[in-house]
Amino acid sequence: MGEIPYFVELDQALEICKQTTLQTIVERVELDECHNRILAVDLPSLVDDPPFDNSAMDGFAMRYEDTVIPPAKLQIIGTVQAAGQEDDITVGEGQAVRIMTGAPLPNGADSILQVELTSTEEDIVTLQQPSMKHFIRKKGENLTKGEVALQAGTHLTPSRVGLCATMGHSSIPAIKRLKIAIISTGDELKQPGEELDRGEIYESNSFGLSGLVKWLGHEPTRLHCVGDTLGDLRQTLNQASTEFDIILTSGGVSMGEWDLVRRIMEEEGDLHFWRVKLRPGSPPLFGLWNNTPLFGLPGNPVSSHVVFRMLVAPWIRHTTQANGPIESRAVAKLATKVKPTKDCLTLRRVSIEMGEEGLTAHQRIHQGSGNLASMALSEGMVVLQPGQDYSIGETVEVLLL
Ligand code: AMP
Ligand code: MG
Repeated sequence: MGEIPYFVELDQALEICKQTTLQTIVERVELDECHNRILAVDLPSLVDDPPFDNSAMDGFAMRYEDTVIPPAKLQIIGTVQAAGQEDDITVGEGQAVRIMTGAPLPNGADSILQVELTSTEEDIVTLQQPSMKHFIRKKGENLTKGEVALQAGTHLTPSRVGLCATMGHSSIPAIKRLKIAIISTGDELKQPGEELDRGEIYESNSFGLSGLVKWLGHEPTRLHCVGDTLGDLRQTLNQASTEFDIILTSGGVSMGEWDLVRRIMEEEGDLHFWRVKLRPGSPPLFGLWNNTPLFGLPGNPVSSHVVFRMLVAPWIRHTTQANGPIESRAVAKLATKVKPTKDCLTLRRVSIEMGEEGLTAHQRIHQGSGNLASMALSEGMVVLQPGQDYSIGETVEVLLL
């Protein structure tokens, strides 16, 4: 292997990847298309939120001092339901205005009582208790005009897209989505829907990886599978490197004679490391093919998924200046025995249950790296440090799936 780092710790692998960066492009994106995108700038609010004092309840607006001795009886002088209707109404002594949630507070009123605590007869409302000042949502109490609510690098979840709209933005500058090629390798692979011959299996990695790329907010393309021949592989990599920002391959990175992704990267590519101290997922490699970053992911379906989450995703988020981790982590108590390994960071797939003592982690499914069901039917992966012992009852870190 010469100078090329071999069997490195996960952190070191990520550091090596980070020495390669991609030029990101900023584009303006309509709000309808913003879900899952990365915000490219600090986004200031164009308005105060809320833009005016308004009612948090359906009920009546009045002067607090008129309501302190229940049951107060006030005269109803009008209704405000929407913007503009309050302009000609002023609430005076002994008066009340019927008001809907979100409607602007009429002049003179300083408090609200919800409709459930009132009764009306003709134009008189009787209040069961004093009215409440805190049922008024004050202008700017959530955000003031010019305040940056979302920072550059924010991953736009549904509530954040909604917040862009609240702040008055119809479109936002976002990082252009990276085009990511996914290439599965292996003579044994058939597409689901086709008939399997002896020795063949259904190709699944590209579908899982495609979902993971979308989860990060980028654009996957599943290219055709490549058989175990150097010529086909070379041609597909050459084509992919002209059209895509990143190449993900799966399979062919182990020690065997047919592990052609490793061989071609060693002999003709620019290999930056091979193998990582991660279980499942120790075989991956990273390097450049015609200057395009290439991750050689393992063929085993659980391994390719794990390597994407632990290595590819953090690097992509780094190179697109996305803020913070996207993974959700928690701690849980081990309810069953889990097996660490001597020299690798080890992830075991578990179901997570919520009990009286908090979260518990149960390893119930056979943990083979070829057993995709062990991932698909689990809620989390416990993170086990190399060389440590773990007993039942111990608290461990969990990566939620
Ligand atoms: P390899 O690293 O190419 O030896 O593959 C390791 C294991 O993963 C073998 O059992 C392969 O059949 C399986 N495998 C490789 N690629 C895929 C794929 N795209 N989908 C599902 N299984 C795969
Ligand atoms: Mg193979």
